[in-house]
Amino acid sequence: MDDPSWYGAFRLIDMIGSASILLASAFCLAGWMLGRYAVVAAPLVLAFAAVPHALDGYTSAPVWWLWAAAGAVLAAVVAGQSWREVRAVRAVARSSATGLSITVGRNAVLASKRVVRRGRIKALVMVVAACAGWVVAFSVLPSELGRTYEEMGQESSSGMFAAAAAAFSILAVAVLASLSWQVFAMSRAGRSRVWEIPAGVELAPPWPFEDKATGLVSVQETTSAGCICLPEFRRSFPDADSHFLDEEGVYASDYCPGHGIDRINEFSAHEFAARAGTSWLWDERSDAPERARPDARRLLLYGYAGRAFTGIPVRERAGLIDASFPWVGPAHEAEAADAVPGWDSAQRPASGVLDVIDLRPAGYAGSAFRYRHGRAWFEAPQIGASESDQYDRRGCPS
Ligand SMILES: [Zn+2]
Repeated sequence: MDDPSWYGAFRLIDMIGSASILLASAFCLAGWMLGRYAVVAAPLVLAFAAVPHALDGYTSAPVWWLWAAAGAVLAAVVAGQSWREVRAVRAVARSSATGLSITVGRNAVLASKRVVRRGRIKALVMVVAACAGWVVAFSVLPSELGRTYEEMGQESSSGMFAAAAAAFSILAVAVLASLSWQVFAMSRAGRSRVWEIPAGVELAPPWPFEDKATGLVSVQETTSAGCICLPEFRRSFPDADSHFLDEEGVYASDYCPGHGIDRINEFSAHEFAARAGTSWLWDERSDAPERARPDARRLLLYGYAGRAFTGIPVRERAGLIDASFPWVGPAHEAEAADAVPGWDSAQRPASGVLDVIDLRPAGYAGSAFRYRHGRAWFEAPQIGASESDQYDRRGCPS
């Protein structure tokens, strides 16, 4: 590094040349932080160094070009893989389409749009930062033109600003490329599809707990004769937004003749088991009943389009598919064991049990505990040694 960055009088090409060396060094140290953007950024960083070196007749120029070409080949390979993935996702989407349609709630649609909007904002910030960097670099440049390496204290301010400006320019290209790819993949796979995928296939919701929807009555259900759930809910939450109620439903009133505790306990064990999928039967702190077949544990994703867009996790609630909040992020790639949520289960009350109903004949993996003065609780048997052994075996085949 003792060699001067330029010889003789400082020129525009020396600003670009020293910027490119700074940028390439920074990329070597911190390029890994860019994640997938690095694939697009690497050939651009190398080409940005190759151009001034070639124009100035440096012997290192062919080496820069060679590395830039290698980076471009790698980027092309990755793009090819992504292209094949999008085609595969499109083919699966078409072949497994059920032909059924379902209403998707506002939160899921907003969450999906939000992901694209954030990408646009990111790209805009990069473009603005790049422009600002170039303006500063070119306004500092005239004061440095014509000066020697020693005169300028062995460093060029314009070169440093140009390096920052080039970094933002390259990032802007990478972000725009990634965003365009995302939008393209989403349009190919079908934006408004709900995917039902087995839980534990390396995609997990962005939060580690299971999203329960127990104790709820949909607003349509509250129109049934004698139902007091909606007026009772309004009495408890006078400021609740009507739009929100339409989508989320309301907590069932304990005293409702149609959805209250007495109604739950009037059902015969058989009637109760047949209705086990009904939200209002269950205490709001209880887990929702869990299906017995493990492959029936499903993750619902809205708008899945492969790695380009992993989809917004949604769940069925009050007769509608929706995300919990409009700001829910897309599912993330996870280890199979982490992809099954369900850590935050509350313990059911120890006393006051009216009866216990085995739900296994109805296709669930546990029992319902009915309470004299409360809604029912679902409880699956604790995961025993046999089941955790299975997990280990699946994780590390021996
Ligand atoms: Zn009711």
